[in-house]
This record gives sequence, structure tokens and C-alpha cells, in this order.
Amino acid sequence: MPNVATAEQRAAQRRMVSRVTSSGVLNRDGLAFWREAGCGEFYADADEVAEDLAVLQVPCEIVTAYRFPLANARSQRPRKGHEVRIAAKDLPSLEVWMPALKGYRAKLPEDAHGWGFMYFQPAPGKMLIGVRTSMAAAWPWWTQKQAARMGLLCAECGWDLRRSDDEGRLPYNIPTRPRGWRLVCGECCNGGIDVVDQVDTVTGSAGVATGAASSVPAPAAPPAPADTAS
Ligand SMILES: [Zn+2]
Repeated sequence: MPNVATAEQRAAQRRMVSRVTSSGVLNRDGLAFWREAGCGEFYADADEVAEDLAVLQVPCEIVTAYRFPLANARSQRPRKGHEVRIAAKDLPSLEVWMPALKGYRAKLPEDAHGWGFMYFQPAPGKMLIGVRTSMAAAWPWWTQKQAARMGLLCAECGWDLRRSDDEGRLPYNIPTRPRGWRLVCGECCNGGIDVVDQVDTVTGSAGVATGAASSVPAPAAPPAPADTAS
């Protein structure tokens, strides 16, 4: 803590320390606090968390992020919320106020997940990589049932697509309607090759446009991550 902390800073510090332990989610990319949209009446909402961080001079951003719908909820759409995210590079500025955070970070496994969920996005003639960043940071720790409600299990066989221990079963987004979200494991969709090969059956102009209709090996994906999340 700085030598001279104002009363306002001390109050913000107390609130942030309790939030980190009660609702903070730490991952490779940083620290996050998710708040359901419209919760402000009962709990501190994302804006209030961000205000405290501003008092403590900790940089953060607020993003729209979704969590799984509750099992007994009438609507089975993902719950919209706002997530306050502090990037890993900025966490030292919070550790000034909460030294214990440094210890939590040290225990984080090296292969811990970050904000984004990576998947393959096959398209006629090419294979892209998508990163879904619109899920709350806690997605790696959701139960299978919760993950299922967010479409993170293979739509065909139920494989948990958050797992990365089987290279044959990586996630491919093969929606039934344009811009949809329907994940299938590589085993159930032939590694997305059927979609990529569709370029041959299209009029042919698409192949000319990409300039490499026949020479794109699937699933050799370009490394540039495209954020197709909306
Ligand atoms: Zn499958």
C-alpha cells in the first residue's frame, strides 16, 4: 500500500480484497469479476467495481460476457453480464493493495486458460481459427452440465470440447444456419474437411477468389486468430 492512502482508497481496497476472494476469477490473461446485467440493485455492479479500481489506479476494462443459463430458468439463453477484466500485465498495480494476490498468481498452472475459447471455423476453401471471448472468464471451471448449456460439448457425441487432451477431438464450429454456433468434435465432423471441400461444388468463382481452392490443406489453419465472437 502507498505510504499515504486516502480514506477513499482504503475503503476501495477493503471492498476489492473481499471481491477478489469471493468472486474474482484468475486465469492466464488476468483477473475478472463478472456481474449479471441489471444486478446493481442488490450487488455492486461492474461499474462500481471499476470505480473502486479507478480509485486504486488499477487499469481495467468492462466487457460484455455471458454465463450459462440457470437450470431452472424459463429462458435457456445465456445470461448476459458485464465483466471487469484486469489484464495480467496490470495486476502488479492491484498487488500493491493486495499482496496476497501475488501468491495466488504464482500457483496458477502454466497451461491455464485465458479469456478466449479457441475453435476451428471451417469455411469453403479454408480453415480459420476463431476465438470466442464473449464468455465469462470462469468458463473452464463450469461443470459439464453448465458447459452443455453454452454449447461447449460436441453436438453429436457430447465430448467436452474444453478438453485439449485428444487432438482428434478439437472443436469445430459447424452451424446449421449462417453465423450460428454449433460445436462438433473433430471426430464427428471429419475435422471439418467436408465443409472446406464444399468449395469444389460451389460455382467455382469462390475458388478463384481465394486463389487456392485446391491447395489449402485442411486443417492447416492460418495462425492469425480471428475473433468471430459477437
Ligand atoms: Zn463428437
